[in-house]
Amino acid sequence: MKDNEDIRREIITTCNFMNDRNINQGTSGNISVRVDGGFLITPSGVPYAEMQPDDIVFMKIDASHSGPRKPSTEWRFHRDIMEKKPEVGCTIHLHSMFCTSLSILRREIPAVHYMIAAVGGPTVPCVPYVTWGTQQLADYIVDALKDRLACLLSNHGMVCVGPNLKRAAWLAVEVEALAAQYWRALQVGVPHVLPDAEIANVMERFKNYGQGDDRRNPSCC
Ligand SMILES: [Zn+2]
Repeated sequence: MKDNEDIRREIITTCNFMNDRNINQGTSGNISVRVDGGFLITPSGVPYAEMQPDDIVFMKIDASHSGPRKPSTEWRFHRDIMEKKPEVGCTIHLHSMFCTSLSILRREIPAVHYMIAAVGGPTVPCVPYVTWGTQQLADYIVDALKDRLACLLSNHGMVCVGPNLKRAAWLAVEVEALAAQYWRALQVGVPHVLPDAEIANVMERFKNYGQGDDRRNPSCC
């Protein structure tokens, strides 16, 4: 059995879930999960529906990797996040429709819904455009994530992080929902934006919400 077989299978399941939910397309997104000695990352150019546990690449922080496949061409920002943000256990990158559409407008997502508190602040910032796979893009993303759990990438997509795969996947869906809500509100008028103090208040409430596992996925009701 391959090392971390269960995590490899969970990564593939999450990739397929993202495509089934229509928040990613084709082979464009990628996922990394921290493991002993480094992290696992999705391979470059393998369709999710065909991906097998052995296709997931083990990479060390020094960027050396092993296995039959090459890592995602976006490995630099996954590597840098794992190196510089020890609290992160999983990074997800998507070309989801509404996040990407806002990124083409180079707009951050403001606090148009209280659920934005789930990203750790009153905005989802949008980093400047640079070519995919570059160190500059990795630097921009790490900087944007210093006090947030998600950001948009201009003319490209989005990145979000979490302590584990389940939580990061949940946040990816929530951030795409926020982007869709903001996009739709913009079609009709000028969205009302909640004050920073209210988002700070909601962040406090999230800390005490739910029981056990529910605490990882706060919302009302
Ligand atoms: Zn991408």
